[in-house]
Amino acid sequence: MTILVQKYGGSSVATVEKLGLVADKVVAAKRLGHDVVVVVSAMGKTTDGLISLAKSVADDPPRRELDMLVSTGERVSMALLSIAIQARGEDAISFTGSQSGIITSDRHFDARIIEVRPHRIEDELHRGRIVIVAGYQGMSYRREITTLGRGGSDTTAVALAAALGAERCEIYSDGDGVYSADPRVVPEARHLPEVDLASLQEMAEAGAKVLNAQAVEWARRAKIAIHARKTQDPVDAAGGVARETVAHEGATSRARAVVGQGAIVLADVAVEAAPRVIDHAARLGVPMLDVFVGRREASFAIPLLNVPDWQERRARLLEEAGGAVTLHEGRALVSVVGDGMSDALPRFYAALREAGAAPQSTSGGPLRLSAVVDAAHLDAAQRALHAAFVT
Ligand code: ASP
Ligand code: MG
Repeated sequence: MTILVQKYGGSSVATVEKLGLVADKVVAAKRLGHDVVVVVSAMGKTTDGLISLAKSVADDPPRRELDMLVSTGERVSMALLSIAIQARGEDAISFTGSQSGIITSDRHFDARIIEVRPHRIEDELHRGRIVIVAGYQGMSYRREITTLGRGGSDTTAVALAAALGAERCEIYSDGDGVYSADPRVVPEARHLPEVDLASLQEMAEAGAKVLNAQAVEWARRAKIAIHARKTQDPVDAAGGVARETVAHEGATSRARAVVGQGAIVLADVAVEAAPRVIDHAARLGVPMLDVFVGRREASFAIPLLNVPDWQERRARLLEEAGGAVTLHEGRALVSVVGDGMSDALPRFYAALREAGAAPQSTSGGPLRLSAVVDAAHLDAAQRALHAAFVT
């Protein structure tokens, strides 16, 4: 029997009715002859709701307690899905991240998976059961409950697929795969039937919401193919769908896409102090993207997505950096991902200028060009870059 890992995102389990559709799909996959492991996200906007609840109690809630709180969201969906599957006549059992053997670093709210020991899952699969796993969470080596950063259920699914020796991982959501840009912002965005994992990782790191960056890292390491599909699309008798994105090592050409990420703070740093400031930021657990140290200037971008306690971290960074850092809030990061980026800077600047989005810092490598712009210009910048580089 082959092991199939499926992951269903929050919008796919937002209501009891939708959860029922997921239960039907899982039962169908089991009846096709697979050993099935299902990873679930919290229902709908549950995680956002729990974070605002904590923030209504204190501005900067302690990360450990946030993890205790937000990890409950996925436990609700895992139990309900197991109940729904059992009501359909198949045997199922749900496990939390720690019961599934997901061991993480001890950094709360954006922990990294360091090891997966899925013995209990394997035992239950041998008993013929469908195993449901709460996504987005694990247990640190100090036995603390941790979460993996927003969108972390993807990481749970791919890391489990790797540890179980599954040949593929199916990621179900309300979109039918990966596009050349966010279709809600860029109407001309194209569906990409196939994506190479290197480009997908750049896209995820630049802030694309389709797949979590840590998940893509696991897929690259373990050579797992990711199939991104829409939950509502019918699956045929062989387990296929009419339209999906397959992300794998063997993709024949590189994808090209435009990615935008809001909630960015740009840090300008005095060159002499750059090593010290970067070190402080790292020790404070401030995430840094596109660190640049030139001869006259230095900068980095701070994505706030997984920094629930920014006011506190910001105060400590400013205090420890002693005037060597200036923080510019309300920024965004816009990127083009694909081959041939090393000589595309003039075209990149021209498109940004046309969108009225002055680049406040630029960075890039062979597969990605990025600029920090005012958040107000993010959508226009994405549309202009898509027109210049994709269509
Ligand atoms: N529920 C978590 C979030 O909203 C994890 C996930 O959906 O993957 O970020
Ligand atoms: Mg998600």
